[in-house]
Amino acid sequence: MGTYRIAVLPGDGIGPEVVTEGLKVLEGLERAVRDLRFECREYPAGAACYLAQKEALPPETVEGCRQADAVFLGAMGDPKIRMPDGTEVTPQITLRFLLDLYAGMRPIKMYPNVGSPLRHQDPDSIDLVLVRENVEGLFASMHSGLVVGDQVATDTLVITRRGTERVIRFAFELCRERKGGPSTGTRLVTCADKANVFRSYAFFRKIFDEIATEFSEIQTNHFYIDAMALYLIQRPGDFDVIVAENLFGDILSDLGAGLVGGMGMAPSADIGDRHAVFQPAHGSAPDIAGQGIANPLASILSAGLMLRWLGRKHQDPEATKAAQLLDFAVYQVLAEGQVRTRDLGGVASTAQVGDVVTDHLR
Ligand code: NAD
Repeated sequence: MGTYRIAVLPGDGIGPEVVTEGLKVLEGLERAVRDLRFECREYPAGAACYLAQKEALPPETVEGCRQADAVFLGAMGDPKIRMPDGTEVTPQITLRFLLDLYAGMRPIKMYPNVGSPLRHQDPDSIDLVLVRENVEGLFASMHSGLVVGDQVATDTLVITRRGTERVIRFAFELCRERKGGPSTGTRLVTCADKANVFRSYAFFRKIFDEIATEFSEIQTNHFYIDAMALYLIQRPGDFDVIVAENLFGDILSDLGAGLVGGMGMAPSADIGDRHAVFQPAHGSAPDIAGQGIANPLASILSAGLMLRWLGRKHQDPEATKAAQLLDFAVYQVLAEGQVRTRDLGGVASTAQVGDVVTDHLR
Protein backbone atom coordinates (compact mmCIF):
# COMPACT_ATOMS: atom_id res chain seq x y z
CA MET A 1 0.00 0.00 0.00
CA GLY A 2 2.62 2.53 1.10
CA THR A 3 1.20 6.06 1.10
CA TYR A 4 -1.59 7.15 3.46
CA ARG A 5 -3.47 10.45 3.40
CA ILE A 6 -3.88 11.72 6.93
CA ALA A 7 -6.28 14.56 7.77
CA VAL A 8 -4.74 16.42 10.72
CA LEU A 9 -7.02 18.43 13.05
CA PRO A 10 -4.78 20.02 15.71
CA GLY A 11 -7.62 21.84 17.50
CA ASP A 12 -7.21 23.98 20.62
CA GLY A 13 -5.01 24.36 23.69
CA ILE A 14 -2.42 21.59 23.94
CA GLY A 15 -3.95 19.88 20.86
CA PRO A 16 -1.49 21.44 18.37
CA GLU A 17 1.43 20.89 20.80
CA VAL A 18 0.88 17.14 21.12
CA VAL A 19 -0.10 16.66 17.46
CA THR A 20 3.27 18.16 16.43
CA GLU A 21 5.02 15.39 18.37
CA GLY A 22 2.78 12.68 16.91
CA LEU A 23 3.63 13.90 13.41
CA LYS A 24 7.33 14.04 14.33
CA VAL A 25 7.18 10.35 15.25
CA LEU A 26 5.34 9.51 12.00
CA GLU A 27 8.13 11.26 10.07
CA GLY A 28 10.65 9.18 12.01
CA LEU A 29 8.77 6.05 10.99
CA GLU A 30 8.90 7.07 7.33
CA ARG A 31 12.69 7.00 7.69
CA ALA A 32 12.74 3.76 9.69
CA VAL A 33 10.28 1.68 7.63
CA ARG A 34 10.67 1.15 3.90
CA ASP A 35 7.57 1.80 1.75
CA LEU A 36 5.64 3.78 4.32
CA ARG A 37 4.66 7.38 3.54
CA PHE A 38 2.18 9.86 4.96
CA GLU A 39 0.61 12.78 3.14
CA CYS A 40 -0.60 14.94 6.01
CA ARG A 41 -2.98 17.84 5.44
CA GLU A 42 -4.13 20.17 8.20
CA TYR A 43 -7.76 21.31 8.63
CA PRO A 44 -9.31 23.83 11.02
CA ALA A 45 -11.78 22.78 13.73
CA GLY A 46 -12.40 23.59 17.37
CA ALA A 47 -13.26 26.50 19.65
CA ALA A 48 -10.84 29.00 18.07
CA CYS A 49 -12.20 28.03 14.65
CA TYR A 50 -15.75 28.65 15.97
CA LEU A 51 -14.72 32.15 17.06
CA ALA A 52 -13.02 32.91 13.75
CA GLN A 53 -15.45 31.27 11.31
CA LYS A 54 -18.68 30.91 13.35
CA GLU A 55 -18.32 27.16 12.73
CA ALA A 56 -16.48 24.65 14.90
CA LEU A 57 -16.35 22.02 12.17
CA PRO A 58 -16.36 23.63 8.70
CA PRO A 59 -17.71 21.53 5.79
CA GLU A 60 -14.29 21.44 4.08
CA THR A 61 -12.83 19.88 7.22
CA VAL A 62 -15.51 17.18 7.25
CA GLU A 63 -14.93 16.53 3.54
CA GLY A 64 -11.15 16.34 4.12
CA CYS A 65 -11.76 13.74 6.85
CA ARG A 66 -14.04 11.72 4.56
CA GLN A 67 -11.44 11.70 1.79
CA ALA A 68 -8.51 10.79 4.04
CA ASP A 69 -7.34 7.28 4.92
CA ALA A 70 -7.37 8.27 8.61
CA VAL A 71 -7.85 11.32 10.81
CA PHE A 72 -5.31 12.40 13.43
CA LEU A 73 -6.80 14.83 15.94
CA GLY A 74 -5.33 16.85 18.83
CA ALA A 75 -7.95 18.09 21.28
CA MET A 76 -10.79 20.59 21.02
CA GLY A 77 -12.66 22.97 23.25
CA ASP A 78 -12.16 26.00 25.42
CA PRO A 79 -14.35 26.36 28.51
CA LYS A 80 -14.31 30.15 27.99
CA ILE A 81 -15.85 29.88 24.51
CA ARG A 82 -19.50 28.86 24.71
CA MET A 83 -22.47 28.65 22.40
CA PRO A 84 -25.65 30.64 23.11
CA ASP A 85 -27.20 27.67 25.03
CA GLY A 86 -24.25 27.62 27.45
CA THR A 87 -22.64 24.41 26.17
CA GLU A 88 -19.19 24.16 24.59
CA VAL A 89 -18.49 23.40 20.97
CA THR A 90 -17.61 19.71 20.60
CA PRO A 91 -16.62 19.12 16.96
CA GLN A 92 -14.59 16.06 17.99
CA ILE A 93 -17.86 14.42 19.09
CA THR A 94 -19.85 15.65 16.08
CA LEU A 95 -17.26 14.01 13.84
CA ARG A 96 -18.00 10.63 15.46
CA PHE A 97 -21.64 10.98 14.42
CA LEU A 98 -20.88 12.27 10.91
CA LEU A 99 -18.38 9.49 10.16
CA ASP A 100 -20.35 6.85 12.15
CA LEU A 101 -17.40 6.02 14.39
CA TYR A 102 -19.37 3.74 16.68
CA ALA A 103 -16.55 2.06 18.61
CA GLY A 104 -14.46 4.20 20.96
CA MET A 105 -11.38 2.18 21.80
CA ARG A 106 -9.46 3.31 24.90
CA PRO A 107 -6.44 1.21 25.85
CA ILE A 108 -5.49 1.47 29.53
CA LYS A 109 -1.95 0.16 29.97
CA MET A 110 0.54 0.44 32.81
CA TYR A 111 3.99 1.46 31.52
CA PRO A 112 7.21 1.54 33.56
CA ASN A 113 8.05 4.64 35.62
CA VAL A 114 4.74 6.42 35.17
CA GLY A 115 3.52 6.15 38.74
CA SER A 116 0.00 5.08 39.66
CA PRO A 117 -2.12 6.25 42.58
CA LEU A 118 -2.59 2.52 43.24
CA ARG A 119 0.01 0.63 45.27
CA HIS A 120 1.91 -2.37 43.86
CA GLN A 121 1.26 -1.66 40.22
CA ASP A 122 4.14 -3.09 38.21
CA PRO A 123 4.59 -2.35 34.51
CA ASP A 124 2.16 -4.44 32.47
CA SER A 125 0.05 -5.26 35.55
CA ILE A 126 -2.81 -3.27 34.01
CA ASP A 127 -3.52 -3.87 30.34
CA LEU A 128 -7.15 -3.54 29.33
CA VAL A 129 -9.18 -1.90 26.59
CA LEU A 130 -12.33 0.02 27.23
CA VAL A 131 -14.77 -0.04 24.32
CA ARG A 132 -17.16 2.87 24.51
CA GLU A 133 -20.30 2.98 22.38
CA ASN A 134 -19.67 6.27 20.61
CA VAL A 135 -22.76 7.47 18.75
CA GLU A 136 -25.82 6.85 20.88
CA GLY A 137 -26.58 6.33 24.58
CA LEU A 138 -26.94 9.60 26.47
CA PHE A 139 -24.99 11.42 23.73
CA ALA A 140 -27.83 10.70 21.27
CA SER A 141 -29.49 13.87 22.55
CA MET A 142 -26.30 15.92 22.47
CA HIS A 143 -27.10 19.64 22.17
CA SER A 144 -30.81 18.85 21.76
CA GLY A 145 -32.08 18.20 25.29
CA LEU A 146 -35.07 20.16 26.53
CA VAL A 147 -35.18 22.93 29.08
CA VAL A 148 -38.75 23.80 30.05
CA GLY A 149 -39.46 27.19 31.56
CA ASP A 150 -36.12 27.41 33.34
CA GLN A 151 -37.52 24.76 35.73
CA VAL A 152 -36.98 21.32 34.18
CA ALA A 153 -34.25 19.91 31.95
CA THR A 154 -34.15 16.53 30.19
CA ASP A 155 -31.76 14.61 27.94
CA THR A 156 -32.86 11.25 26.52
CA LEU A 157 -30.76 8.09 26.56
CA VAL A 158 -31.11 6.02 23.39
CA ILE A 159 -30.03 2.39 23.00
CA THR A 160 -30.73 0.69 19.66
CA ARG A 161 -30.33 -2.98 18.82
CA ARG A 162 -28.19 -2.24 15.74
CA GLY A 163 -25.92 0.21 17.58
CA THR A 164 -25.47 -2.14 20.52
CA GLU A 165 -24.90 -5.28 18.48
CA ARG A 166 -22.13 -3.74 16.40
CA VAL A 167 -20.17 -2.23 19.29
CA ILE A 168 -20.43 -5.42 21.37
CA ARG A 169 -19.32 -7.50 18.41
CA PHE A 170 -16.37 -5.09 17.99
CA ALA A 171 -15.44 -5.68 21.66
CA PHE A 172 -15.48 -9.47 21.26
CA GLU A 173 -13.49 -9.37 18.03
CA LEU A 174 -10.90 -7.14 19.69
CA CYS A 175 -10.73 -9.53 22.66
CA ARG A 176 -10.01 -12.43 20.32
CA GLU A 177 -6.73 -10.74 19.29
CA ARG A 178 -5.59 -10.15 22.88
CA LYS A 179 -3.93 -12.28 25.50
CA GLY A 180 -6.43 -11.80 28.32
CA GLY A 181 -6.23 -9.78 31.54
CA PRO A 182 -2.68 -9.63 32.98
CA SER A 183 -3.51 -11.28 36.30
CA THR A 184 -5.64 -14.09 34.88
CA GLY A 185 -4.40 -14.63 31.30
CA THR A 186 -8.05 -15.26 30.44
CA ARG A 187 -9.77 -13.63 27.48
CA LEU A 188 -12.71 -11.82 29.01
CA VAL A 189 -15.30 -9.26 27.86
CA THR A 190 -17.05 -7.40 30.67
CA CYS A 191 -20.36 -5.59 30.19
CA ALA A 192 -20.63 -2.45 32.37
CA ASP A 193 -24.20 -1.18 32.70
CA LYS A 194 -26.97 -0.22 35.10
CA ALA A 195 -29.33 -3.05 34.20
CA ASN A 196 -30.72 -3.23 37.73
CA VAL A 197 -32.45 0.15 37.38
CA PHE A 198 -32.91 1.17 33.75
CA ARG A 199 -34.71 -0.77 31.01
CA SER A 200 -32.36 0.70 28.40
CA TYR A 201 -29.32 -0.82 30.15
CA ALA A 202 -31.18 -4.14 30.70
CA PHE A 203 -31.70 -4.17 26.91
CA PHE A 204 -27.98 -3.43 26.38
CA ARG A 205 -27.11 -6.38 28.65
CA LYS A 206 -29.59 -8.71 26.93
CA ILE A 207 -27.95 -7.97 23.57
CA PHE A 208 -24.50 -8.47 25.13
CA ASP A 209 -25.55 -11.97 26.24
CA GLU A 210 -26.92 -12.76 22.79
CA ILE A 211 -23.71 -11.71 21.01
CA ALA A 212 -21.59 -13.58 23.57
CA THR A 213 -22.98 -16.88 22.29
CA GLU A 214 -21.15 -16.21 18.97
CA PHE A 215 -17.83 -16.15 20.85
CA SER A 216 -17.96 -19.24 23.05
CA GLU A 217 -14.16 -19.29 23.51
CA ILE A 218 -14.29 -15.92 25.34
CA GLN A 219 -15.34 -15.60 28.98
CA THR A 220 -17.86 -12.93 29.94
CA ASN A 221 -19.14 -11.17 33.02
CA HIS A 222 -21.32 -8.14 33.87
CA PHE A 223 -21.04 -5.44 36.49
CA TYR A 224 -23.24 -2.51 37.37
CA ILE A 225 -21.37 0.68 36.61
CA ASP A 226 -20.88 1.65 40.27
CA ALA A 227 -19.30 -1.73 41.10
CA MET A 228 -17.29 -1.51 37.87
CA ALA A 229 -15.69 1.72 39.12
CA LEU A 230 -14.84 -0.02 42.40
CA TYR A 231 -13.34 -3.14 40.80
CA LEU A 232 -11.32 -1.11 38.31
CA ILE A 233 -9.54 0.39 41.30
CA GLN A 234 -9.37 -2.75 43.46
CA ARG A 235 -8.30 -5.29 40.82
CA PRO A 236 -7.69 -3.65 37.44
CA GLY A 237 -5.40 -6.49 36.33
CA ASP A 238 -8.35 -8.88 36.09
CA PHE A 239 -9.93 -7.01 33.20
CA ASP A 240 -9.30 -7.51 29.50
CA VAL A 241 -11.99 -5.75 27.40
CA ILE A 242 -14.82 -3.74 28.93
CA VAL A 243 -17.78 -2.54 26.85
CA ALA A 244 -20.13 0.23 27.97
CA GLU A 245 -22.72 2.76 26.86
CA ASN A 246 -21.42 6.15 25.71
CA LEU A 247 -21.54 8.20 28.94
CA PHE A 248 -20.40 5.31 31.16
CA GLY A 249 -17.53 4.70 28.73
CA ASP A 250 -16.65 8.40 28.83
CA ILE A 251 -16.37 8.37 32.61
CA LEU A 252 -14.59 5.01 32.89
CA SER A 253 -11.99 6.08 30.35
CA ASP A 254 -10.81 8.99 32.51
CA LEU A 255 -10.87 6.73 35.57
CA GLY A 256 -8.76 4.22 33.66
CA ALA A 257 -6.34 6.94 32.55
CA GLY A 258 -5.99 7.99 36.19
CA LEU A 259 -4.85 4.47 37.10
CA VAL A 260 -1.97 4.48 34.62
CA GLY A 261 -0.38 7.91 34.96
CA GLY A 262 -3.10 10.35 33.92
CA MET A 263 -4.57 11.77 30.74
CA GLY A 264 -1.15 12.10 29.11
CA MET A 265 -0.97 8.28 28.99
CA ALA A 266 -4.42 7.65 27.48
CA PRO A 267 -4.58 7.16 23.69
CA SER A 268 -7.83 6.52 21.86
CA ALA A 269 -9.31 5.48 18.53
CA ASP A 270 -12.83 6.16 17.29
CA ILE A 271 -13.53 3.48 14.74
CA GLY A 272 -16.29 2.87 12.20
CA ASP A 273 -16.64 0.50 9.27
CA ARG A 274 -15.09 3.00 6.80
CA HIS A 275 -13.44 5.82 8.73
CA ALA A 276 -11.46 6.24 11.94
CA VAL A 277 -10.21 9.13 14.07
CA PHE A 278 -7.19 8.81 16.37
CA GLN A 279 -6.68 11.22 19.25
CA PRO A 280 -5.51 11.34 22.85
CA ALA A 281 -8.40 10.80 25.27
CA HIS A 282 -7.58 14.10 26.98
CA GLY A 283 -8.98 17.54 26.28
CA SER A 284 -7.28 20.80 25.40
CA ALA A 285 -5.96 21.26 28.98
CA PRO A 286 -6.14 25.07 29.09
CA ASP A 287 -4.39 25.00 32.48
CA ILE A 288 -1.09 23.93 30.89
CA ALA A 289 -1.50 25.07 27.26
CA GLY A 290 1.26 27.17 25.71
CA GLN A 291 3.90 26.12 28.24
CA GLY A 292 5.43 23.23 26.29
CA ILE A 293 4.93 20.81 29.20
CA ALA A 294 2.03 18.65 27.98
CA ASN A 295 2.75 14.94 27.80
CA PRO A 296 2.62 13.98 24.09
CA LEU A 297 2.65 10.21 24.70
CA ALA A 298 -1.15 9.82 24.50
CA SER A 299 -1.01 11.49 21.08
CA ILE A 300 2.01 9.42 19.99
CA LEU A 301 0.36 6.18 21.16
CA SER A 302 -2.79 7.22 19.26
CA ALA A 303 -0.62 7.46 16.13
CA GLY A 304 0.39 3.88 16.92
CA LEU A 305 -3.27 2.81 17.05
CA MET A 306 -3.75 4.53 13.69
CA LEU A 307 -0.87 2.57 12.14
CA ARG A 308 -2.19 -0.71 13.52
CA TRP A 309 -5.67 0.04 12.14
CA LEU A 310 -4.26 1.05 8.71
CA GLY A 311 -2.14 -2.10 8.71
CA ARG A 312 -5.15 -4.31 9.34
CA LYS A 313 -7.51 -2.47 7.00
CA HIS A 314 -5.08 -2.43 4.07
CA GLN A 315 -3.32 -5.68 4.95
CA ASP A 316 -0.09 -3.71 5.01
CA PRO A 317 2.67 -5.38 7.06
CA GLU A 318 4.81 -2.20 6.88
CA ALA A 319 2.17 -0.17 8.73
CA THR A 320 1.77 -2.93 11.32
CA LYS A 321 5.54 -3.08 11.75
CA ALA A 322 5.62 0.70 12.22
CA ALA A 323 2.98 0.39 14.96
CA GLN A 324 5.11 -2.22 16.74
CA LEU A 325 8.23 -0.03 16.43
CA LEU A 326 6.36 2.94 17.86
CA ASP A 327 4.94 0.98 20.81
CA PHE A 328 8.35 -0.49 21.56
CA ALA A 329 10.03 2.94 21.38
CA VAL A 330 7.53 4.43 23.86
CA TYR A 331 8.01 1.47 26.19
CA GLN A 332 11.80 1.76 26.02
CA VAL A 333 11.79 5.51 26.66
CA LEU A 334 9.63 5.05 29.75
CA ALA A 335 11.63 2.04 30.95
CA GLU A 336 14.81 4.14 30.79
CA GLY A 337 12.93 6.78 32.76
CA GLN A 338 15.20 9.72 31.83
CA VAL A 339 12.89 11.78 29.66
CA ARG A 340 9.45 12.30 31.18
CA THR A 341 7.13 15.28 31.33
CA ARG A 342 6.05 16.89 34.59
CA ASP A 343 2.81 14.90 34.94
CA LEU A 344 4.96 11.73 35.14
CA GLY A 345 7.39 13.25 37.65
CA GLY A 346 10.00 14.42 35.13
CA VAL A 347 11.17 17.79 33.80
CA ALA A 348 11.23 17.18 30.04
CA SER A 349 9.37 19.37 27.58
CA THR A 350 6.73 18.12 25.15
CA ALA A 351 9.22 18.41 22.27
CA GLN A 352 11.98 16.54 24.14
CA VAL A 353 9.68 13.56 24.64
CA GLY A 354 8.79 13.56 20.92
CA ASP A 355 12.51 13.74 20.05
CA VAL A 356 13.54 10.86 22.28
CA VAL A 357 10.73 8.58 21.07
CA THR A 358 11.73 9.37 17.46
CA ASP A 359 15.38 8.56 18.27
CA HIS A 360 14.32 5.20 19.70
CA LEU A 361 12.64 4.16 16.44
CA ARG A 362 15.98 3.25 14.98
P1 NAD B 1 -8.52 17.83 30.07
O1 NAD B 1 -8.35 16.42 29.65
O2 NAD B 1 -8.17 18.86 29.08
O3 NAD B 1 -7.64 18.09 31.39
C1 NAD B 1 -7.84 17.36 32.61
C2 NAD B 1 -6.55 17.39 33.42
O4 NAD B 1 -5.57 16.55 32.81
C3 NAD B 1 -5.93 18.77 33.51
O5 NAD B 1 -5.36 18.92 34.79
C4 NAD B 1 -4.83 18.76 32.46
O6 NAD B 1 -3.74 19.63 32.73
C5 NAD B 1 -4.40 17.31 32.50
N1 NAD B 1 -3.92 16.86 31.20
C6 NAD B 1 -4.67 16.61 30.11
N2 NAD B 1 -3.89 16.24 29.09
C7 NAD B 1 -2.62 16.26 29.53
C8 NAD B 1 -1.36 15.98 28.92
N3 NAD B 1 -1.25 15.58 27.64
N4 NAD B 1 -0.25 16.13 29.67
C9 NAD B 1 -0.34 16.49 30.95
N5 NAD B 1 -1.49 16.77 31.59
C10 NAD B 1 -2.63 16.65 30.87
O7 NAD B 1 -10.04 17.99 30.54
P2 NAD B 1 -10.87 19.29 30.97
O8 NAD B 1 -9.98 20.24 31.73
O9 NAD B 1 -12.09 18.78 31.60
O10 NAD B 1 -11.30 19.97 29.59
C11 NAD B 1 -10.59 21.05 28.97
C12 NAD B 1 -11.22 21.33 27.61
O11 NAD B 1 -11.07 20.19 26.74
C13 NAD B 1 -12.70 21.61 27.65
O12 NAD B 1 -12.98 22.62 26.73
C14 NAD B 1 -13.36 20.30 27.25
O13 NAD B 1 -14.63 20.46 26.66
C15 NAD B 1 -12.34 19.80 26.23
N6 NAD B 1 -12.29 18.35 26.03
C16 NAD B 1 -11.99 17.95 24.77
C17 NAD B 1 -11.80 16.60 24.51
C18 NAD B 1 -11.40 16.18 23.12
O14 NAD B 1 -11.06 17.02 22.30
N7 NAD B 1 -11.41 14.90 22.80
C19 NAD B 1 -11.89 15.66 25.56
C20 NAD B 1 -12.16 16.13 26.84
C21 NAD B 1 -12.34 17.48 27.07
